[in-house]
Amino acid sequence: MSDALHRAAEAIRGARCAIALTGAGISVESGIPPFRGKGGLWLKYPPEEYASIDGYLRNPGKVWRFWLELAQTLGGCRPSPAHYALAELESAGRLEAVITQNVDRLHQEAGSNNVIEFHGNFSRLACLDCGATRPTDLEHLDERPPRCHVCSGLMKPGFVMFGEMIPTDALIEADRLAQVCDVVLVVGTSANVFPAASVPITAKRHRAFIIESNIEPTEFTESVTDAFLEGPAGEVLPRLVELV
Ligand code: NAD
Ligand code: ZN
Repeated sequence: MSDALHRAAEAIRGARCAIALTGAGISVESGIPPFRGKGGLWLKYPPEEYASIDGYLRNPGKVWRFWLELAQTLGGCRPSPAHYALAELESAGRLEAVITQNVDRLHQEAGSNNVIEFHGNFSRLACLDCGATRPTDLEHLDERPPRCHVCSGLMKPGFVMFGEMIPTDALIEADRLAQVCDVVLVVGTSANVFPAASVPITAKRHRAFIIESNIEPTEFTESVTDAFLEGPAGEVLPRLVELV
């Protein structure tokens, strides 16, 4: 690990453009459960029911109650040392952008400025009928699925569900960064969710150095990773940033 850590720090120091790709794992130490793996939400809440637009339309009440509970969990969470480490790298001029699959806004809260939200976020609700949006105001929401103030249509949270498109501007910017960067720091993502998982693969094809921080090996580890930093991101990333 110490050898990998030194090689990772050296790659970041020498990079013209380094970016990070983060997944649910970076927020585990903030108290937000991931979807897959140990303690994963999907074991109890199958994604086709609870995280797809079809599942929501089939059973808005049940799915909304799950999201509301998740939103309340998110509301009480603070960034972890890993989020702060990435914000520090950015302010030191060593990190161009964070591409995140998370919807919890903890990167912004930690001070990262250039955050590309691949899967949207929970800060706004959008009407499925007329497209009107409004802020997600937890104080005025209850167990009934939210209705649009304009047309009374059913509303959904502003994050991307299975069966929905990734926001085009996020997709284009992530692909551009993947092609021009020379280092990708992949943190807490299981490499299973495409197209986010294609960022390190594209970057590798363009000869970028891939650093991976995870508590266990993933499909990236054997295929694209150059330096694997095993352990909780909240411990590993602050050490990395200190070395940089
Ligand atoms: P995932 O749940 O599929 O995988 C999480 C990964 O993090 C695993 O590889 C796991 O080994 C690793 N991990 C767990 N604890 C860690 C730690 N302390 N340090 C480092 N790594 C750790 O998550 P995913 O790959 O991001 O993809 C699933 C989807 O889940 C994404 O689309 C994301 O939007 C969504 N999601 C978001 C949140 C959130 O916003 N915080 C939470 C759950 C799921
Ligand atoms: Zn409406």
